[in-house]
Amino acid sequence: MSEYNCSLIDIAPAIAELIGVPLPGADGVVRPELSDLMRRCSRVGVVLIIVDSLGYSTYQRLKPSMPSVSVKGTLLRCEAVTDHTTPAIASILSGCYPRTHRVLTTADMLTSSIKSVLERAEECGVKSAVVIEADGAAAMKTKIELSEGVPDSRDIIAYDAAIKGHAIDLLEHKPALMVLHFRAIDRYAHEGRSFDDLAFAAGSIDRHIAEICRHTLADSCIIVCGDHPIHGKRTEDDHGVALIIFRAGDVCD
Ligand SMILES: [Zn+2]
Repeated sequence: MSEYNCSLIDIAPAIAELIGVPLPGADGVVRPELSDLMRRCSRVGVVLIIVDSLGYSTYQRLKPSMPSVSVKGTLLRCEAVTDHTTPAIASILSGCYPRTHRVLTTADMLTSSIKSVLERAEECGVKSAVVIEADGAAAMKTKIELSEGVPDSRDIIAYDAAIKGHAIDLLEHKPALMVLHFRAIDRYAHEGRSFDDLAFAAGSIDRHIAEICRHTLADSCIIVCGDHPIHGKRTEDDHGVALIIFRAGDVCD
């Protein structure tokens, strides 16, 4: 733990505390390094942006292509809990290790007894929203009122743009918590693309994030995090993901 500021399972407890909803049964804990930072950025709510495959060292390499995120954001090194997207996102949203939430596939989301911070918020009458891949969104639809899905696509740049578009639409409802998931970096990594292509994907996501910031309240806390380190070629120290926190208004100047 020492080389990390926190774990992916500590994100949901920090968000729950910030928006005032209980999150019983989480494996993660409220860590001051994380919650103090978030509290300084947020007065009105949280937008949690999961960037697929944004490992800690991957982010260090892609940073020049992500000026909106990197200039104002505070970077933490966050410990990953799995190499797979669906269980990782379930861990981010529930604050539980995969062995606790047991969500390995999208279908498991419907049967898992562990509730995410989104569901807890909904139960408390705290408005929350989610924009993810269509199957995941369909699974969430029964639980979260404001849920939009984007069908998987061969054109992952267009897919991410559609995610951004739905996020901006749902922000009009002023949710206290919004969660969305961008996938272009991960897809390009799986396709074995060049570093320049990865940088292009990162730049596209960075512009989406800047646009989302312009459409949300300035005093929203933006949390950008990876779900797991990038697949394939990895350096020795690449077992963590990037976690970047900033105030929405700070990227709009
Ligand atoms: Zn992933």
